[in-house]
Amino acid sequence: MKNYHTHTFRCNHADGDASDYAKAAVSKGLTLLGISDHTPLPDNRWLFMRMGISALPAYVRAIDEAQAKHPNLVVLKSAECEWAKEYHNFYEEVLLGEYNFDYLILGCHFFPFQGGWLSSHLDITSPARLAAYTDCLVESMHSGLFSFVAHPDLFGLCYLDWDENTIAASKDILSAAEALRLPLEINGHGLMARRVSGSKGERTAYPWLPFWELARNYDIRVIINSDAHDPQNVDQGIKEGREMAKNLDLQLANMEHLDRR
Ligand SMILES: [Zn+2]
Ligand SMILES: [Zn+2]
Repeated sequence: MKNYHTHTFRCNHADGDASDYAKAAVSKGLTLLGISDHTPLPDNRWLFMRMGISALPAYVRAIDEAQAKHPNLVVLKSAECEWAKEYHNFYEEVLLGEYNFDYLILGCHFFPFQGGWLSSHLDITSPARLAAYTDCLVESMHSGLFSFVAHPDLFGLCYLDWDENTIAASKDILSAAEALRLPLEINGHGLMARRVSGSKGERTAYPWLPFWELARNYDIRVIINSDAHDPQNVDQGIKEGREMAKNLDLQLANMEHLDRR
């Protein structure tokens, strides 16, 4: 089993460091662990949920140390990133370039709306906001920097009922993924731990089932990760996500190009 999406204590809402996750991964039989904390940003924006830019060298060292301590586990260096034009060069030249990150994950946690930025966790509460999230996500996907898209259906957290707007948004995201050959993530953390109530009762917030049912009509690939925020959850939801993909006849992405060994 492999997991490419993991957070450390540095983002202020997770526990454990890279070595703690590596130890847990080995004990649970994982062969590959990607550490992908929320990226620092050069202007220290959205600092409440990420490390400051000055913490970047220590983050990289912690991942290298985890690899050194666990030679039989592949430990990859990554970050979950919001894309905006002003950060493109930082991701390309500093994270992928200078620090030699193995891959970057796109996580669209914020999106521009009417001159400001809104939260994808809290603020997608109208068709106009859903459209703005979708535009931001699709534009970010086109940046070419990312190896896959984390929780593309994150809007299911706060846009509560499936309707013609969620169908249009999903089609835009799925068409872009197909055209760009960019895998979409079935998120284990969401699958096991994020529930919301819509007018038809309680459901999983994300992965939101009708999004993935629609995905069957597209030539896309899926990746299943735990998005763990605690070492003991390093494999959270991966088995269940695989089952979901199998039941929906969705094809798993081949990510072997990222594995260094
Ligand atoms: Zn995320
Ligand atoms: Zn994450």
